[in-house]
Amino acid sequence: MNKLQTLDYQGILDLNQVQLNARNKLNERIQNKKIIFEDVSCLCGSNEYDVISSIDRYGLEQQTVICKDCGLIRSNPRYIQEEYKLFYETDEYRLLYESNSIKECAMVNFDAAENLKDGQNIIQIISKFKQIDNSVNILEFGCGGGWNLIPFVRRGANCIGIDYGKEYTQLGREYGLNILQGSLESVKGKYDIIILSHVLEHFLDPISDLKEIKSHLCENGLLYISVPNITNLSLAQIQSAHTYYFCPDNLQYYVQSAGFKIIDYGKSQNIHMYGLFKRGDIAPDINLLSLSKKNMYRVIKQMKVITYIKLMLKKLHLFEILKTILKR
Ligand SMILES: [Zn+2]
Repeated sequence: MNKLQTLDYQGILDLNQVQLNARNKLNERIQNKKIIFEDVSCLCGSNEYDVISSIDRYGLEQQTVICKDCGLIRSNPRYIQEEYKLFYETDEYRLLYESNSIKECAMVNFDAAENLKDGQNIIQIISKFKQIDNSVNILEFGCGGGWNLIPFVRRGANCIGIDYGKEYTQLGREYGLNILQGSLESVKGKYDIIILSHVLEHFLDPISDLKEIKSHLCENGLLYISVPNITNLSLAQIQSAHTYYFCPDNLQYYVQSAGFKIIDYGKSQNIHMYGLFKRGDIAPDINLLSLSKKNMYRVIKQMKVITYIKLMLKKLHLFEILKTILKR
């Protein structure tokens, strides 16, 4: 038996009163069994796991586990599909994450340099392999308001974005982008480039969803995926909305399993990573899973030591003082 123990902590983020109220309301619904959870196996098929933590960064009751066989981290048990839908639609969720309304959010400004940065990085990566001009059809699934598509639109590409969110998609259309509100089922047609920026970690069934996405990718098309890189694990990254937490090795393995081969990989936005993929039906390399398992167990051990030290310093009111000193 592995001796990995659950961390006992009160949520690692400092929350304001609005966030605290939203968090407490959600926890009350969980404790009163108003939210339905389900057990899910790992993507490798295994049901053997060790518990990493029992609550998320906000202090929401959500167990996070690591698969004993492949090292993939996942939420388990997790909300059933209908609950996730409600979770994204409720005010509590938005208040917890953004602590203000969408209309007041910084993302409303479509021309702000900060909001265009990610799209510019993506176009730079893709341009190494494909020229972006008016002959190229692009789909971004999970596009929010569509900020990432703006640099592509400016190069003349034909872009379409799809997202679950009603208000963000509305904002994108008001800005003049071709953005639809919908799910993966609403994707129609074939594309030269498909972008999944910080979306895969929310999918309930990533392999089957990626296979569906593949059916919309042209023969020589490119699939861009960016996700958090969980080798930078800290409890601040653990959140109910994330179903899976990938590291470079298991990301490559599971995307390969859906019928893709990797052509480029790198760091994106400090603690995140990207992979660029082509269609390719090759057997996924099983060695990637043993590497992932070895690395992730090591990462978790390190994180636990760091977290205990941080919490201890916080308890002794030394954390802020130490941070100030280190900043000097
Ligand atoms: Zn597994």
